[in-house]
Amino acid sequence: MKLYAPSTIRDIKDRYDFQLSKSLGQNFITDGGVIDSIVEGAGIGSEDLVIEIGPGIGVLTDAAADAAARVVAVEIDKKLMPVLAETLAGHDNVRVINADILKTDINGIIREEREAGTFTGDVKIMGNLPYYITTPIIMGLLEKGVEAESITIMMQKEVADRVEASPGGKTYGALSVAVQYYCTVSRIAQVPKEVFIPRPKVDSAVLKLSLRDSSPVELTDKAVFFSCVKHGFGQRRKTLLNSLTGVCGLSKQQIGEVLDEAGIDPVRRAETLDMEEFAAIANGVADRCGR
Ligand code: SAM
Repeated sequence: MKLYAPSTIRDIKDRYDFQLSKSLGQNFITDGGVIDSIVEGAGIGSEDLVIEIGPGIGVLTDAAADAAARVVAVEIDKKLMPVLAETLAGHDNVRVINADILKTDINGIIREEREAGTFTGDVKIMGNLPYYITTPIIMGLLEKGVEAESITIMMQKEVADRVEASPGGKTYGALSVAVQYYCTVSRIAQVPKEVFIPRPKVDSAVLKLSLRDSSPVELTDKAVFFSCVKHGFGQRRKTLLNSLTGVCGLSKQQIGEVLDEAGIDPVRRAETLDMEEFAAIANGVADRCGR
């Protein structure tokens, strides 16, 4: 019997008297093709460590454990611990941690595993994310400087569109700039809502975020850059002159000077700026911060 088959999920629910939790975003994959595309898209090698976010009943964990040297899966739901012990019993290279991913020290886990000699290759993060915390999970990993090569994750299609967006469109925003600052982004798969139990209201997509080796733009102060991005998109209908006034305590006149120096029309809006332009503004702001 296949682990991802709807009948297996029903059987597990019956035997463990387990109800799927909507509030924990428990929409389980029932399609082997989707599992293969995530594991193949993650590019897992036989020497790699995979950190999985939210294993559920272990369908991705099982496939990753066949491909990787070691898998560490972080699952918040205590009720799934005995289920995972059963479904992953055939693997001796899997460690399940019952914890909230948002409160988990991933770099600490990577260090522990490296010191224990469980892998010698790269670190790949993977998961079918609980959709209610997609953005905090992604930004948490990136802002804390996760020491991984890539993050291959399924999310709501609308969020994937925002992560991947280029300047000029409605979906382009602070999330696009933030993720693209840290990573290059590629789309691995489109996934229809019909392949989940229970069926969510929206379609999904799998993105691979490959961590950059170095910053794509030169910044005087990274915090000021992100503050400019936040201010700009915080009031996205306003002109840059207005939306950026106040950033780092700068007056409208000072923002006018910054935009002038950067050669950016003050009546433009944040959604038209590319990363280089945000960087030019941020560096001009940083020069005047505290003046
Ligand atoms: N990987 C399984 C699959 O694809 O069928 C389950 C994916 S399901 C969309 C999300 C999983 O994340 C659930 O098992 C849920 O319990 C777990 N989860 C929810 N919030 C979490 C959190 N804060 N930390 C860790 N796991 C969490």
